[in-house]
Amino acid sequence: MIRYCPHCWAENAYEATLCAACGMTLEEAEKDFVARLIDAIGHPEPTRAALASDILGRQLHEARAVDALLARLARQPDSMDVTTAVAEALGQIGAQRAVPALAALLLDGQRPLPARLAAVEALAAIGGVAAQQALVDAATLPQLPHLLRRALGDTQRQTRST
Ligand SMILES: [Zn+2]
Repeated sequence: MIRYCPHCWAENAYEATLCAACGMTLEEAEKDFVARLIDAIGHPEPTRAALASDILGRQLHEARAVDALLARLARQPDSMDVTTAVAEALGQIGAQRAVPALAALLLDGQRPLPARLAAVEALAAIGGVAAQQALVDAATLPQLPHLLRRALGDTQRQTRST
């Protein structure tokens, strides 16, 4: 287990009581940790916003972050890294209500390919009828980038074999 510093977000040992990077007391600030991470999804610095999204999704599966993630996903133009991290986080949280926004991202040829690939994985992870339909619809798009077509093929094969 890792404990993230709520102040500087350095990774610390779970048993740590002080942040090794900035000296912040870890325990007393921890109650605000999720709220601060959710605020940081809207951070203007892309690295911060992407890291906050990643922690909330991959580490915490934090359902309270979904509104802020959806708001960030709607921001255009945006950093490719942020859009990708936000799409991944929504998949890791398993947010059903994110399906329309993820489907729109997947189908939008103006948005960066890594973010659209993340949308494929997120929709496959969330599952359900609407997510499956979005994946099927996307596969019929003309001029679909090769990597995207392959990712869509992979999700469809997995669906059939499970
Ligand atoms: Zn720190």
